[in-house]
Amino acid sequence: MAQLNLQHLDKIYDNKVQAVFDFNMDVADGELIVLVGPSGCGKSTTLRMVAGLEDISNGHLLLDGKDITQAPAKDRDMAMVFQNYALYGHMTIYENMAFSLTLRKENPNVIHKKVLAAAEILGLTSQLNKKPSQLSGGQRQRVAMGRSIVRNPKVFLFDEPLSNLDAKLRGATRREILLLHKRLKATMLYVTHDQTEALTLADRIVCMSMGHVQQIGTPLELYDTPANLFVAGFIGLPPMNFYDVRFEDGMLKGKGFTVPLTDEEKFTLSGYNGKEITLGVRPEDVTAGGGIQTKVFSNENLGMNTLVHGYMGDNLRVTAKLRGWTDYRNGDVVSLQFGRKHFFDKETTNAIRKEQ
Ligand code: ADP
Repeated sequence: MAQLNLQHLDKIYDNKVQAVFDFNMDVADGELIVLVGPSGCGKSTTLRMVAGLEDISNGHLLLDGKDITQAPAKDRDMAMVFQNYALYGHMTIYENMAFSLTLRKENPNVIHKKVLAAAEILGLTSQLNKKPSQLSGGQRQRVAMGRSIVRNPKVFLFDEPLSNLDAKLRGATRREILLLHKRLKATMLYVTHDQTEALTLADRIVCMSMGHVQQIGTPLELYDTPANLFVAGFIGLPPMNFYDVRFEDGMLKGKGFTVPLTDEEKFTLSGYNGKEITLGVRPEDVTAGGGIQTKVFSNENLGMNTLVHGYMGDNLRVTAKLRGWTDYRNGDVVSLQFGRKHFFDKETTNAIRKEQ
């Protein structure tokens, strides 16, 4: 069992910089939570407060109901995996993985069993006699994970564990972490700036900006019903298209273009008649056909899809992710239409939802 309660956590550094504001979340046993956001948004600080590597300025941290706000890192029963693997170069892989248990003076037979079991899980059995310098980056990252697994911690904490790996290895190691999570059924907190990692790994995502939690939810919730403009722009690749529009005469009027609305969409916007709002449309929800004349300036074939970039209305950028292979040339004019639309209040930047 490893339940975590992060209760109204603030972090104010000595230089008076407040890095985290009122972080509030309950993590269920066995959940894989990904903290995501741009550099400097406070995600590592949050993780380090949980690990006990940074003091908690305000709020409480509970592990299985026990208040550990003041507990030193070594007593928290958590293991942290960093992006720089921090392996000992003069030790073998076996010795690296055994290190923390050797320090604790565990029984050598127990240590041996644990190291072999972790190596088996991570596919490192044949590498145990090597030195870290003889392994690839991906293998070294697995050794770093192995070091955590042997300790059998209540909570695993990952701080950007994949950011030193190249794109292909990142994908492979990401899948390994997912398998590891399934196998160990451990509670995990994982920090990344990469929205793809967040979407593919998380049971639930916490999206942060400037020290504030913007939304907590499943990957699908954040993708499909982003709470505000920030989350809408951060989750999804290529990013969502945004336009200033006015809701008038049952349609959206933008600069040099209009967008028809379904009855349901009109209903959602019923409180905004005559008002300016922000319209968001994901590139994958822009399709060919319809009345939005677009002048193409780039056609990028990705195999299954093509990214078509163009200008619509009064010189407004639009990106469409069209199915299949298209061969538009610069200057071609295509008609586009918007499918699923997202609406945001201009003042609060919050999503406009249907009145219940
Ligand atoms: P992230 O992990 O999202 O990139 P961090 O948690 O590392 O962000 O940093 C959040 C904010 O706190 C940043 O503005 C950063 O400059 C500041 N910060 C981080 N560590 C310290 C520190 N030791 N002292 C003062 N400010 C810090």
